[in-house]
Amino acid sequence: MSNPTLEVVRREPSMFIEGKAQGSESGARFDVFDPATGSVISSVPEADEADVDRAVAFARKTFDEGVWWPGTPDRERGKILMRAAAILEREQERLALLDTLDCGKPIGESRLDVEECAIVLEYYAGLADKLDGSTPPAGPDGITFTIPEPVGVVAAIVAWNYPLALAVQKIAPAIAAGCTIILKPAEQTPLSALELPAIFEEAGLPEGVLQVVTGAGPVGAALVAHPGVDKVTFTGSREVGVQVMQSAAQTIKRVTLELGGKSPNIVFADADLELAIEGSCEGIFGNQGEICTAGSRILVERSVYDDVVAGMVARLGDLRAGAGVDESTTMGPLVSMAQKERVDRYIEIGKNEARMAGEGTLPQDAELANGYFVRPTVFADVDNKAVIAQEEIFGPVASVMPFDGFDHAIQLANDTVYGLAGAIWTTNVTTAFRAARALRAGQLWINDTQAAPLGYPAGGYKQSGFGREGGREGLADFTELKAVYLRLDR
Ligand code: ADP
Repeated sequence: MSNPTLEVVRREPSMFIEGKAQGSESGARFDVFDPATGSVISSVPEADEADVDRAVAFARKTFDEGVWWPGTPDRERGKILMRAAAILEREQERLALLDTLDCGKPIGESRLDVEECAIVLEYYAGLADKLDGSTPPAGPDGITFTIPEPVGVVAAIVAWNYPLALAVQKIAPAIAAGCTIILKPAEQTPLSALELPAIFEEAGLPEGVLQVVTGAGPVGAALVAHPGVDKVTFTGSREVGVQVMQSAAQTIKRVTLELGGKSPNIVFADADLELAIEGSCEGIFGNQGEICTAGSRILVERSVYDDVVAGMVARLGDLRAGAGVDESTTMGPLVSMAQKERVDRYIEIGKNEARMAGEGTLPQDAELANGYFVRPTVFADVDNKAVIAQEEIFGPVASVMPFDGFDHAIQLANDTVYGLAGAIWTTNVTTAFRAARALRAGQLWINDTQAAPLGYPAGGYKQSGFGREGGREGLADFTELKAVYLRLDR
């Protein structure tokens, strides 16, 4: 398919190690696919342990020599982040296209992602010189004070659903805190991450503060196991999260985990139903359902249950499947063939477990015949114990179930190993707040879904992980706290 947008893609981009664009030591590369067509669009270096060793040694040296921190004034770190934000805005279209061609999402969503990245960079730019400590009371003969200091060398390992945004969400606070960073993008979606070193170099970031290594699980595992890394910040699956914790435990690394979810989207009978149906669809069909905070379990009060199911099924007809680069597409392909097969498998399981209330269409375009598309699907009358109600599908598959009264809603909502997010649709303020307090999850929305306003600390309860990203809490996660006591009477 002749696709002019492919001109933004470098055929053989480099990694960025030791301040230089370079390939892997072994020379190995792996292919990157356009999920809309299934065709190879690029080939990126495949790092191995030798490359990871070099990157960690350089990050270690950069940090330990003190030129970056404490040698670079806090305010200067903020200025670098501000300049990076401006460059991202300037490069918005190119970066958005790269993400769309890499992971499949509609181009409009990718543009918003890049905008969001610029906002995150500006937010942490403002915090870089505001890492305050405290002076806890220490009696008349002494003074205690605390100093936040950067945690050191950070390995940032990310998933493929928001390639640029997940990376920037980790890099921005890490730079603000004074850390050095080795970023490993997901093997499915490395292209926008490989643009970041040049962007930060232009912004004035000293050599060695940000390095990017590409490869699959073993590269991530090598970073996590490496004794030279102080902290791992990871976004990905629960299963890999378990491995990260186990491996990081050997060297007592600091770990932040943003894992999966099976988040409830609760529609009370008094909700504005139009809004609730719209939001319920956005929560599970947005970004092809490839969102860790997706509202994948839709709990609906029985008196409005049929209306909500019918409303969601009707909206399936409005979704337009196609290539992400097509401006009219609202449902892109999934990221990979493996992900498509996984989601199709869950749809088959669902057909045996629940009532298939409706399904959307696949694109008709012959050029997309090999793309990784699935039909967005609404399953109704789902038992909360069913596989499709308990396992994270990570695709556009809605599991809708009825509830009877507030307590029943909360009991169903909390009956999951996950605790990442939840949405509450009601016009009753007391119901809204009671539900927000009763849900065991880290991110809740009332009459909205998937919102990430400035300063909102995102993260999970239970097996959805720990640590927070965003806000001041997200910055604190990249610091150690030093406490100093000064004795005054001697
Ligand atoms: P998903 O299921 O969303 O693909 P994964 O958890 O498999 O998410 O992957 C998320 C990120 O973790 C990717 O960058 C991947 O390469 C990396 N990864 C996979 N396995 C490991 C591992 N054992 N240790 C560290 N990182 C890993």
